[in-house]
Amino acid sequence: MAPRNEEFDFDFIVIGSGFGGSVSALRLVEKGYRVAVMEMGRRWTPQSLPHTSWSIHRWFWRPKFGLRGFFNMRFFRHATIFHGCAVGGGSITYAGTLLPAPEKVWTTGSWAGLSDWQAEMPNHYQTASRMLGVTQNKILWPADHLLRKAAEAAGFGRTFYSTSVGIFQPADGEAGNKSFPDPFFGGEGPPRTTCTSCGGCIMGCRYGAKNTLDLTYLYLAEKCGAQVFPETKVVNVKPLAGASDGGAGYEIRTVKSTAWIRRQPGRFTRRGVVLSASSLGTMELLFRLKDNGSLPAISGRLGKHVRTNSESLIGARMPGAEDFSQGIAIGSGVYIDEHTHVEAVRYPSGSDTMSLLTTILTDGLPGWQRIGLWLRNVLGSLLRHPLKTLRLALPWGWAREHVILLCMQALDGHIQMRWERPWFWPFRKTLVSRGKKVPTYIPRANEFARKVAQVAGGTAMSMLPEILFDVPGTAHCIGGCVIAASPDRGVVDHRQRVFGYRNMYICDGSVLGANLGVNPSLTITALAERAMSFIPPAAGAAWNDAVVRGTTAP
Ligand SMILES: Cc1cc2nc3c(=O)[nH]c(=O)nc-3n(C[C@H](O)[C@H](O)[C@H](O)COP(=O)(O)OP(=O)(O)OC[C@H]3O[C@@H](n4cnc5c(N)ncnc54)[C@H](O)[C@@H]3O)c2cc1C
Repeated sequence: MAPRNEEFDFDFIVIGSGFGGSVSALRLVEKGYRVAVMEMGRRWTPQSLPHTSWSIHRWFWRPKFGLRGFFNMRFFRHATIFHGCAVGGGSITYAGTLLPAPEKVWTTGSWAGLSDWQAEMPNHYQTASRMLGVTQNKILWPADHLLRKAAEAAGFGRTFYSTSVGIFQPADGEAGNKSFPDPFFGGEGPPRTTCTSCGGCIMGCRYGAKNTLDLTYLYLAEKCGAQVFPETKVVNVKPLAGASDGGAGYEIRTVKSTAWIRRQPGRFTRRGVVLSASSLGTMELLFRLKDNGSLPAISGRLGKHVRTNSESLIGARMPGAEDFSQGIAIGSGVYIDEHTHVEAVRYPSGSDTMSLLTTILTDGLPGWQRIGLWLRNVLGSLLRHPLKTLRLALPWGWAREHVILLCMQALDGHIQMRWERPWFWPFRKTLVSRGKKVPTYIPRANEFARKVAQVAGGTAMSMLPEILFDVPGTAHCIGGCVIAASPDRGVVDHRQRVFGYRNMYICDGSVLGANLGVNPSLTITALAERAMSFIPPAAGAAWNDAVVRGTTAP
């Protein structure tokens, strides 16, 4: 016999506390559900955040090696994926840029035609923007001025814009670092401090000026009674006996993510589940659960249509010039053509470790030819300007001297993730990437990097893995459990209900059905708002919400 509601530990478990997870937690608890949020990462405060990226153990996430930070980098054959891991998910490390997707994305990809997206999404974007305190960046600093000058010199200066950001900025003419009682939620939120323009957003805001989820959605969810379990990794989700489609609830197994030996296994029962572990995290968990027989009915489209936002990271380094690290992590952007968008990104002064991945800009098609060209460029530069070239290879001063150019394209291109034993470690299955590679060389973007370097008297730079291994870097891995009409096309329906299971939803970047060409967090938030809006209040819940076997029941 199925357990009664009060016999469950909670009504809903939310797995992951990033953009999708925090929205889900707040909206469900507001509807009267008992909600638990399981988060693998740690809880951070302005006091516990690292000062620079040299504090590797507090920046990087590899708990098996004692690194318990909030930033992770995963290496695949087709992409190096950067992502967050903390209470508040990617919001702790993200740059704070919050842009809606261009309208055209709703008419392409797997979600096209499933709803009147263009009519519905503006409302959800509006709610998401209000909750995340989106405002236009008022503070342009040297990196932004350089971007504008280079765009003007290249002939598309009119496309320059200052970004929309989720950052609490000082009033015009005022200095930052001033504290105020909650400015966003009518006194229900926490006190906040204005931005100091230290450029530290990506290393975690040590002033409390970035509108991270632990200060917005998740803060309010906890205030309303949601319980957050930090350092708790979900390792199994299984329908309870009596209904293999989850209609009788789910058993969830957890372990302590930061423990080496005593992993403190936990067991909980829930009526409903929201998977919000990010594109990579949700794919990894669902592949494991499909493979071990816990959730065998997950669609075979799992892992298909994984997108990197078609990104390439390039830049320019200007040793001895002004300090380019000041400002907001991403203060401005330009469109270099109708599909290609470039943003100026910075790390705070002293956070120089990323320099180890940068090298002199090199064009060309991937493979040995490009590596040969790169060696020629480096040797040529060493012979012509030995001191300058050696200086470019030194990490110290990199954040102050370097402007990263984040280039994103709205063109379609995708890879696949599979659950396989890699040839180099056949002892256990893991995520491996497959498919046609997304181009790492975008000629117009390289041309623009040269223009930026020329305007500032510096040297244009590339990412080393893009040249050596033809592997692009991306902070915007999306897709893999895409919204689609049926399980033979995707993993969830347009309300983000998992095909084949009851009361199971996915709310994170994995559901995105097209390359957005802009930073995705606002869209993930808006889609989660939309998905949660369909769930009835707890009092009237029938607990049979499903699109079992692809029927498009309302
Ligand atoms: C350096 C950097 C800068 C960025 N800047 C921007 C930006 O300016 N604008 C923008 O829009 N986007 C930006 N992004 C991308 C943005 O962070 C992601 O798109 C966004 O966080 C994805 O939201 P999500 O809800 O899918 O998952 P996430 O926010 O990644 O949250 C998922 C959470 O689930 C947890 N988790 C995973 N597996 C498990 C498990 N098994 N059990 C329990 N918990 C689990 C993870 O620890 C994580 O905290 C940036 C990313 C990086 C790395």
